[in-house]
Amino acid sequence: MDASDLRTWTELLDLEGFEVVDVASDRAGKLRRSTVIATAVAGLCPHCRRAAGERHACHDREVMDLPLGGWTTRLVVRLFQFRCGRCDKFFTPRHPALAEGAHATERFLGRLAEYAGHGDVSTAARFAGVAEKTAERWYYDHLERRQNEPAAQELLPIRSLGIDELSLKKGTGSSAAEGEALTAAC
Ligand SMILES: [Zn+2]
Repeated sequence: MDASDLRTWTELLDLEGFEVVDVASDRAGKLRRSTVIATAVAGLCPHCRRAAGERHACHDREVMDLPLGGWTTRLVVRLFQFRCGRCDKFFTPRHPALAEGAHATERFLGRLAEYAGHGDVSTAARFAGVAEKTAERWYYDHLERRQNEPAAQELLPIRSLGIDELSLKKGTGSSAAEGEALTAAC
């Protein structure tokens, strides 16, 4: 799969803050598993509130996403941890597209909530392919997050770095291979 194919998949998937780096299709099972990677090149340190650009690959996590063209969609999400050089601390930025505490994207839970909101948790559970108890928990957690949503601005990923952060990033590299070696830090 070349770069332009991956760009097309990224556009089709349209998941804020992520790009597609690999797609595996199981035609018989109508299941597509896309590997996506966070595009943010820096994270905001929760301790000193400054941008940190030293990125380390974290373990992958598989989540459910909305079906695409009738195919079941699973995402293998590759997240990063950042290290703030000033505070000498690691942190993992929050991704608004992913639901915390659930193996699903927030938009998948939005669809589940539509079913559950009509008073039908069993339809919601069937849609998600999970137990009713799980669907119920995801539904209420999703509603709670929607109520406590921080300002959208705060959650936007950092797309470019200032001079400071660039010099900080220099020499640390951000290749997957190097990140892999540091997975233990996660
Ligand atoms: Zn810091």
